[in-house]
Parts: sequence; structure tokens; C-alpha cells
Amino acid sequence: MVTPTSSDEAIAPQALAVREAATDSGERENELADFLERVQIPLHRLAQDGTILWANAATCALLGWSLTEFVGHNIREFYVEQDLAARAIGQLSGNQDPEPHEARFRCRDGTVRYVSVQTTVYRQNDRFISARCLTVNLIEARRSTELHERLAAIVESSDDAIISKDVNGIIQSWNRGAQAIFGYSADEVIGKHISMLAAPDHVDEIPAILDRLRRGERVDHYETKRKTKDGRILTVSLTVSPIRDAAGNIIGASKVARDHTDLARQTGALQHLNEALTRSNEDLQQFVYSASHDLQEPLRMIAIYSQLLRKDYQDKLGPAGNQYLDHAIDGAVRMERLLAALRAYTRASIASQDVTEPIDTGAAMDRVLANVEPALAEGGVEITRATLPVVRIHAFQIEQVFQNLIGNALRYKKPGTLRINIGCEDQGDHWLFSVQDNGIGIGPEYKEQIFGIFQRLHTTAEYPGTGMGLAICERIITRAGGRIWVESQPGEGSTFFFTLPNK
Ligand code: ADP
Repeated sequence: MVTPTSSDEAIAPQALAVREAATDSGERENELADFLERVQIPLHRLAQDGTILWANAATCALLGWSLTEFVGHNIREFYVEQDLAARAIGQLSGNQDPEPHEARFRCRDGTVRYVSVQTTVYRQNDRFISARCLTVNLIEARRSTELHERLAAIVESSDDAIISKDVNGIIQSWNRGAQAIFGYSADEVIGKHISMLAAPDHVDEIPAILDRLRRGERVDHYETKRKTKDGRILTVSLTVSPIRDAAGNIIGASKVARDHTDLARQTGALQHLNEALTRSNEDLQQFVYSASHDLQEPLRMIAIYSQLLRKDYQDKLGPAGNQYLDHAIDGAVRMERLLAALRAYTRASIASQDVTEPIDTGAAMDRVLANVEPALAEGGVEITRATLPVVRIHAFQIEQVFQNLIGNALRYKKPGTLRINIGCEDQGDHWLFSVQDNGIGIGPEYKEQIFGIFQRLHTTAEYPGTGMGLAICERIITRAGGRIWVESQPGEGSTFFFTLPNK
């Protein structure tokens, strides 16, 4: 048991009431006046004609007027709605209690305040003494009503179905979007269980969703099936979030459902088309590969028999005949190179991208530089290189890329020392490789074109080549998940960049 320690705590309520009654009535009046003056509720008193007799500090604070600007004036001056003022004052004059009403009061700063006015008349022997008015600031209430109305309008105008349900899955609200998607009107569904919308083979998921909501979890963009009033099955994307009361308790859930049926249908059709396209692409690549392979044989025969013709009949052909034969042999050799490049390109397109072991690209570069050793041995070439990383890509593919880029730098050079700089930077989720030269450079208008198949900027007489090297590089790099591009200044040199995933 707790023992009271102060004398007041020890006094019983009845004893306190007795002590109150004994207090001097003048003192109690003062105390009450002080209370009314200081209470945080706007209060004022009116005479029968509406003249303001008294107002407390909270009234002045609410409207911004000082006491002298308010008291002594008629309350009518502060009403925006004069008809409301006239009615209230009319009722006072008739010695009636004015009805509680909402009005707008003018404030000193020119703004208006929404207030609710409640008035009680104090009478003695039925004679009007004064009217006591309480003005409640409605602004917050108005604001929240307005916000509520605005939100309700947004919900109502949405094309998505916006539905609220309680924790047991009973539908509480249903917007126009829900009606348009599911076909039920609000009257038909409010109070019913949400499972009425589940497609027959998706009924089981509803209790699971409700369980998650009760645990306070959200369900985000969940693609599922729902059934309309007329029995159609829709593909919908659901986002369901718990609704909490002011104390944080989960009291229900809001659910936004978007009809994805058309999207799902289109995605399905697109997928079909994509598969068909991939198949026909693969067929085409296979065809190109076999054609370029099969053409090789007759081509070789043309070259061999042309060479035999020259060997055995050179004297009889005369200078013009020999020249024609040379052109035929050159053409056959060139065609053979083109076919080989085409095969390399299709190989790069159909090679599997499943790489089990990452490889050391530095070692791949060593092999490429060993291949081009004869060209380096001629002198006039300086090569600098960064440490190259270990990357998940087929060794023969990265070698082909390095080979083509270094080969190009060696071919498209200017008189003077050729400088080739091989770089690589770790850029987080990918490596950025670069092969820079100080060769003839490329005009900005050709930066994209040079990566196309059989695209060349020069004749074979100027610079030998097939126009396939960069197309092969592009194919290999994009299939490995990277990107390739060039930055160049004509006459100054070029830098070929490419990226490879760092995983
Ligand atoms: P090819 O070199 O066999 O013609 P590529 O596809 O490798 O085919 O290159 C396409 C064109 O891009 C080349 O014909 C050339 O004009 C230009 N090119 C490629 N690399 C360079 C380079 N390092 N410097 C200048 N031009 C280049």
C-alpha cells in the first residue's frame, strides 16, 4: 500500500469540495476570469445587438486583431458571410440561442479563417444578459477534408483498380477503375470476400497474401490471374500494402490492380516472334557458314587452274592474256579471303557464350603480338601496354579482337614511328580496354559505319583488307555483354575502346 506523503494527497475529494465551498466567492470569480482569459480556446461575449463585450487572448491570437481592434466592435464586421451574421444577431435580438454554424471570419492580415461558432445565451429571469461564443478553428479540419476529397477524386479517376479490404479480406471500398476492370459495381462487392476475384487456379494465393499483409509486408508488382464478373481471366499486376491506424496497428490493406492482359498477350506474341526471328537468324547464319565453306572448293579450283594455265601457257597468252589471268588469280585469292572472313564472322555469331573458366587476356595479347612479330621486326613500331586482366570470355575470341585491332593499327599507319598503346581500366562492373594508335585516323562520319560487314574506307590497292575485321570484333564483344566504339581524329590517330563484364 502506498502511504500519502503530502497533505493535499491525503485529503479526500469530499473534503476538497467542502474547502472549495468555503472559499471566498470573489476569489473564485477571479480565478474563473483568469482561466477564461488564458485558456487556449477562443471565447468572446456579445451584447444582444452583436457588440463584442469581451474576448480572450486565444480569440485575438486566432484572428490577429488586438483587443481594442476587436472588443467594442460589432461581430458583424468580422463575418465574411453577412447573411450568417444577420441571422445570428437576429436570433440574439429575439432572445434566442443562435444555432451553431460554420462561417468565415476576417483576420487582420486580410486572410479569412474557417470557424465553427457555438453560442449560449446567459439570461436572468428570462432577461438577456450576454451571449457566450466559442469559435473553433476549422482550418485543420477543412484541410484534411479537402485532402481527403482530393485523394478520393484521384482514386476514383484512376484507370487502375484501387480496392481496400480489411485484415480478413473483406472488401471495404471499390473505385471506378475496379468496376471497369472486373465488371462488378461497388454495391455488388463491398462486404464480400476478396477471393471472389481470384481465378480458379489462383485461389490459394489469397490467404498467403493476407498473411503477408498481417505481418506488415507489402506485395509489389505481383503478376497473377484474376476473374471478371463475366468469367474472363485477366492477367493483373498487383501491389498490395498494409493500412495502419494512428496507433500503427494494421487494419486492412489497399490493393492496386493493373490489367496486364493485353500486355501479356503482346509480350507472348513478341516472344514468339523473337523466337522465330532467332531461329531464322540461326538458319541464315548456318546457311552463310555452309555457303562460304562450300564456295571455297570451286574457288580453289579456279585459282589452281588459273595458275596452271599461266604456268603452261604463259608464252602463248601474250602480255594482255597474262594480265587478265593475273586479275582472275587476284580475284580468286581475294574472294577466298572474303569467304574466310565471312566464316569467322558467322562463327563469332553462333559460338556458344558459355565460358567455364576465365582467361588471362594478357596471355592472349602475348600470342597476338607474337603473330605480328614479322611486322614489328621491320621496326618503326613502339608498343606500350597495361597489365591486362583475367576475364570470362573464350580465348580464341579475345585473341581475334586483339588481332584485328592491332592488325588495323599496323596497317592504317602514317609515315614515321607508329605508337600503339594498349590500355585497360577497372570500371567497377566492367573492364574498359583500349587500343590506341597514332595512325591515319577516321573521319567522324564513319565512326559507326566501319563496324558494319564489308565496310571499308579505302580500296584494296591503298590498304589491303576485307572490311570484316571490326564487324567480327563488334559481334564478339556484344555477344560477350560488352560494347565497342572508336574515338578518332583524322590525321592524328584512333583509339578503339571496348568493354567486357567484370564478373
Ligand atoms: P579492313 O581493315 O579489313 O578494311 P575493318 O573492319 O577492320 O576492315 O576496318 C574497317 C575500316 O575501318 C577500314 O577499312 C579502315 O578504313 C578503318 N579502320 C579500322 N581501323 C583503323 C585504324 N586503326 N586507323 C584508321 N582506320 C581504321
